[in-house]
Amino acid sequence: MKKYNFYSGPAILPPVVFQQAAKAVIELDDIGLSLIEISHRSKEFQAVVDEAVQHVQELFHLNADQKVLFLQGGATMQFCQIPYNILNSDEKAAYLDIGSWSKKAIKEAKIFGNVEVIASSADKNYSYLPKTYTIPSDATYFHITTNETIHGLQMQDIPQSPVPLIADMSSDIFSRELDGKQFSLIYAGAQKNIGPSGATLVVVNERMLGKVSRQIPTILDYRNHIKDGSLHNTPSTFSIYVCLLTLRWIREQGGLTVIEQRNISKAAKLYAEIDRNVLFEGTVAREDRSLMNVCWKVLRPELEEPFHAFAKENGCVGIKGHRSVGGLRASIYNAMPVKGVELLVELMQEFERKNA
Ligand SMILES: *Cc1c(COP(=O)(O)O)cnc(C)c1O
Repeated sequence: MKKYNFYSGPAILPPVVFQQAAKAVIELDDIGLSLIEISHRSKEFQAVVDEAVQHVQELFHLNADQKVLFLQGGATMQFCQIPYNILNSDEKAAYLDIGSWSKKAIKEAKIFGNVEVIASSADKNYSYLPKTYTIPSDATYFHITTNETIHGLQMQDIPQSPVPLIADMSSDIFSRELDGKQFSLIYAGAQKNIGPSGATLVVVNERMLGKVSRQIPTILDYRNHIKDGSLHNTPSTFSIYVCLLTLRWIREQGGLTVIEQRNISKAAKLYAEIDRNVLFEGTVAREDRSLMNVCWKVLRPELEEPFHAFAKENGCVGIKGHRSVGGLRASIYNAMPVKGVELLVELMQEFERKNA
């Protein structure tokens, strides 16, 4: 039985993407070779990179200074690669602390320069987004996490920043219509909403680069990846190809406005049930609820494990909070069909009938 995958990442992708990827692993477009054996410098693979870059440019409405890269090392590598390339040791970067991932980004930035955490929701266990803060105009950049995967928070509005804005969009990239021109740097590990693990999408405004006085190792210097078109060394060819398939799928669905509407209605169904059901309670401030990672808890903790097991037995896997926070979490990325959410809601209702 095909199960619905609610895991946070690696995560669900559209069935058609799995089919096309499987086919390309056997043979790419009738070329007599598998996708995973061809050279990253072949014209066939170059076409893959070119098309993937073009989709990203169009979906984010980028300008010519904004370079699209497919790198490796995950979003975690970006936590250090960004300050390495952009933050001088006597300069200051501003960070918003809204959960586990932003905390990790802050820790790495401190290695390279000064960090000012301008607001934090650590006081309430990251159950809300700080709303009142001032972005210092003398900061080199301002770093945000648009969606906190672990705590289930999502920024509904992107802040207006007087300094270059940098965003970790790992878990909500291409989940909604956004103007990428607002950002000086965007990064996302592929494995949440656009592909399998292996590739990291980075969109960097090249005007930000070349301003630090330290030496940067060749492989970590964005300028080398820009110059070599993401082919400085052997990239994660399979992951990039599957990202391309997902980007095509987004276009075929009607683009980001269609995807966004679908995400809004899927999340609304699930939150409505969490709010209605006497056994459950949402764990984050309503106005900050993520459309991607829905977090809640069971009011009687002894029922948490049984609910998790019940969902799993009935085809919904991965409904478990991150090990660091507990509770329940359903990741409902772009590829989660409405039917998957409807099944989960039915299971919540049935569990209530049996246990309330
Ligand atoms: C998953 C995640 C990361 C880490 O991604 P890796 O690719 O595993 O390094 C960073 N930030 C956010 C918001 C995430 O969801």
